[in-house]
Amino acid sequence: MTSPTDPTPFDPDCLFCKIAAGEIPATIVHESETTVAFRDLNPQAPTHVLVIPRSHYPNAAELAAGEPATAADLFDAAREIAVQEGIDGPDGGYRMVFNTGAAAHQTVFHAHLHVLGGRPMGWPPG
Ligand code: 5GP
Ligand code: ZN
Repeated sequence: MTSPTDPTPFDPDCLFCKIAAGEIPATIVHESETTVAFRDLNPQAPTHVLVIPRSHYPNAAELAAGEPATAADLFDAAREIAVQEGIDGPDGGYRMVFNTGAAAHQTVFHAHLHVLGGRPMGWPPG
């Protein structure tokens, strides 16, 4: 049974916990001790990867409070993925997004960092 103090909380009803555990298939593009990254099922750009902590936190704010080192690991994974995908560098550029809360279009309540690239991006975001 998990509790808020469990160091590697797992929610058996959570889609992304199941992907991290290998119980639901996904196209994994990067893994580390603390993170897993896989292609988004409904990509919004030529590269659209989701980087998640292996631990269950409902959003980025709770991850930052509960496991700040892992929050930093998400950014490091994103940097490596950008190189792998060829979207880094002066001619590239990519966007990192944490939707936090339903009003910000969060639909899966396991913290995840969107890494989007491979096309020009507009601003402001919708
Ligand atoms: P959010 O809207 O919560 O910021 O992002 C959730 C993302 O998860 C969406 O972009 C959605 O396309 C993606 N997604 C939802 N279900 C699955 C799934 O089963 N597999 C994969 N790879 N992505 C998913
Ligand atoms: Zn989860």
